[in-house]
Amino acid sequence: MTSQSSNQPRSQASPDVEKAGFSTRAIHVGSDPDPTTGAVVPPIYQVSTYAQDGVGGLRGGYEYSRSANPTRNALQECLAALEGGQAAFAFASGLAAEDTLLRTVLVPGDHLLLPDDAYGGTFRLVDKVATRWGVEHTPVNLSDLAAVRAAVQPGRTRVIWCETPTNPLLGVSDIAALAAIAREAGALLVVDNTFATPYLQSPLALGADVVVHSTTKYCGGHSDVVGGALVVGEGSTVPGTGEPLADRVGFHQNALGAVAGPFDAWLTLRGLKTLAVRMDRHCDNAEVVAAHLAAHPQVTEVIYPGLASHPDHAVAARQMRRFGGMVSFRVADEATALAVCAATKVFILAESLGGIESLVEHPARMTHASVAGSALEVPADLVRLSVGIEDVDDLVADLDAALEQAAGA
Ligand code: PLP
Repeated sequence: MTSQSSNQPRSQASPDVEKAGFSTRAIHVGSDPDPTTGAVVPPIYQVSTYAQDGVGGLRGGYEYSRSANPTRNALQECLAALEGGQAAFAFASGLAAEDTLLRTVLVPGDHLLLPDDAYGGTFRLVDKVATRWGVEHTPVNLSDLAAVRAAVQPGRTRVIWCETPTNPLLGVSDIAALAAIAREAGALLVVDNTFATPYLQSPLALGADVVVHSTTKYCGGHSDVVGGALVVGEGSTVPGTGEPLADRVGFHQNALGAVAGPFDAWLTLRGLKTLAVRMDRHCDNAEVVAAHLAAHPQVTEVIYPGLASHPDHAVAARQMRRFGGMVSFRVADEATALAVCAATKVFILAESLGGIESLVEHPARMTHASVAGSALEVPADLVRLSVGIEDVDDLVADLDAALEQAAGA
């Protein structure tokens, strides 16, 4: 397993560590003690350029930090090891990663499928940007495999873009089944694994070609860095050309230049090291919160893949280790949803998700305002929670108090 394209040198991670358990990989892959000082954490190589020993005499392959930087490489190696990929590439944001992938794979006249409840920013990128470059798209319910097959345009559909669970409606789709449809169509299956993380779900092992992350979320985990990543599966090729996909993504990462800076890469790598313990606690807390809300008289619906009432609970149980830290719920109307969002005290009213602190938001007016009026519009009575790792009793009490206050408003 290697995490680098040809223009990116790698440090020495022992092959044994790369085959070890999840947390051992998270802590050690890419993080060998520094060869000069023995520092047990990779340094922040805050540098743009590297001395050459004579023209073209690169030390370890490093030339310029857009093309390669040791701190970014450390993060990329770790991500590749956690997702079980051939190569990983770190970007300045999740959307920068998505844009780079779309421009690597698609040319004018191509077509892609994307979920009809995709993250609003992904939809905006496809609908408002890629469209202008002659790329067409069809939003489709990815849980409905017959609808997916029907939406494929033979010879034109190059990408099936899956997000599972989705943001904010927590839709779950069957990665292995979608991979089979994509293979048959000669398309790539791309899975946005931001909500599940590599700890809970392994899309590449289920047949996906590429994993996308907003590492801003659980991978970073502390709401202190914006970043994104692509992880390319072993042997995946560019549809239509058959070129190795990892090489092409590596080329475009450098050619487009939206790379993760050294400090951002370092923060993200630090976050990854504790991903497993954080995710278990996020899941523990979210399970309690979801069950509590499901029994609450003011809540009309709780959407959480771990509840038997979730329409795709069986698929989620098959392909996820646990069900994640995101819980969405509906109340009587928009006014009540807004009042709940305004009333919590432990849950902070804010966009984003996946940090250790609990967040609450109103998707229709906040994160998903950009899809208002489109096929992806989200219900106005929906509240989204990013359940953090605080003491769960405090989280439940906070929600109860906010719901009570909203009822009296
Ligand atoms: N994918 C999902 C599922 C997201 O929730 C987000 C952001 O919220 C993104 C991608 C985009 O990532 P970023 O905000 O890091 O650009």
